[in-house]
Amino acid sequence: MNMTHSFALTRAAALDQLATVIPHVGRTYASSRNTDVGPGHSPTTTVLSPFLRRRLLLEEEVVAAALEEHGPDEAGKFVEEVFWRSYFKGHLETRPSIWSSYNEAVARGHEQLATQSGLRRIYEKAVTGRTGIDGFDDWAFELTENGWLHNHTRMWFASIWIFTLGLPWALGADFFLRHLVDGDPASNTLSWRWVAGLHTRGKAYAARTDNIHRYTDGRFRPQGLNEFPTAIEEDHHPGAANLPAADPLPKGDVALLLHLDDLYPESLPVGEARVARVGGLLAHAPGAVEHVRRADEQAMADALKRAGAHFRCDVGPAVEGWAGNLPTVTPWAPVGPSASALPSGCVRVRRLWDDLTWRRATRGYFQLKTAIPAILDEALAHR
Ligand SMILES: Cc1cc2nc3c(=O)[nH]c(=O)nc-3n(C[C@H](O)[C@H](O)[C@H](O)COP(=O)(O)OP(=O)(O)OC[C@H]3O[C@@H](n4cnc5c(N)ncnc54)[C@H](O)[C@@H]3O)c2cc1C
Repeated sequence: MNMTHSFALTRAAALDQLATVIPHVGRTYASSRNTDVGPGHSPTTTVLSPFLRRRLLLEEEVVAAALEEHGPDEAGKFVEEVFWRSYFKGHLETRPSIWSSYNEAVARGHEQLATQSGLRRIYEKAVTGRTGIDGFDDWAFELTENGWLHNHTRMWFASIWIFTLGLPWALGADFFLRHLVDGDPASNTLSWRWVAGLHTRGKAYAARTDNIHRYTDGRFRPQGLNEFPTAIEEDHHPGAANLPAADPLPKGDVALLLHLDDLYPESLPVGEARVARVGGLLAHAPGAVEHVRRADEQAMADALKRAGAHFRCDVGPAVEGWAGNLPTVTPWAPVGPSASALPSGCVRVRRLWDDLTWRRATRGYFQLKTAIPAILDEALAHR
């Protein structure tokens, strides 16, 4: 499968993909999701992440479709996985300093590469797939070519990057974020931190030869891995901040500003506001490569087109003065490039799903997991 060439990043393509994968997210998904069969084969997971990341599909739509097809027991594993996305978003939203300190760590990492030739050599080999480590080199190539990796492979890759190659974790997260077509500030940063032992403090993830051999269907058997890593430590332990209250919505005519974190404007709860104009703000991940930028642009163009038809108004890029004198309303942008690029004074609309999940994402995943039935009762009742 070649993600970047076979996938159109549109709502219509998202719905097609959802219809294709839903029959498989019951028992089959639960038993096979850990296996990475490799490119060129039908993946064992849904590959819905490029759509979910941009909200061309909503989490609740995907969860509702899975529950309807398979029921809560058989769809349970899949539903939990979708909640991991919501968990990470809520966790970063309530601990925004993790994002700023990650960006500082990336900058520091690049300075180290500029001054330490030994480190630079290892880094260059890692990102170009020339380390000689079986599997790892193929995955580096797969990532840069296809813009997507299986979840288990992301875990192995990150563990080998940090603990076998001894490279800074933030540079690995940056490598992923620039190339992944589902690159997401929350899922990516916090997953790398999880592998490093910084999320669940003191507990690092070990990539093991036997596990890789087994879950790649025998394709790879890397040697010389650090199978007993010591978790990375840091001094800074940010506490959780309260989620700010949602902004009160204006009535009457508004300009709607779309961004890459929420591209399903037809479903945005705008209350008594009337959308009279729509603008698109493209804030790519820092250093995003060409195929990611193209995917972002395609998704935005699709959302603007749909918004124009739905609200029957003018749409276009959010250039200087695009909103005229209208108050600007925007979907809530979680911590990341879109949130940083939003002009001040926008009224941010937070979806019920985010309200329900984010406030339960301040600690470990378990806090959210135990609330899944209650969240679903409330969120799906409003559909
Ligand atoms: C080091 C590392 C970096 C990652 N970086 C990203 C990233 O930048 N963007 C991203 O979307 N995901 C990231 N993930 C999480 C996960 O790997 C992907 O969401 C998943 O592989 C997407 O494939 P899928 O849609 O086929 O998943 P499926 O297994 O079909 O799951 C359905 C959906 O559930 C969510 N989901 C599943 N597993 C996870 C998970 N472990 N964490 C969070 N959400 C999950 C995704 O939205 C996914 O589309 C990362 C994981 C690791 C270990």
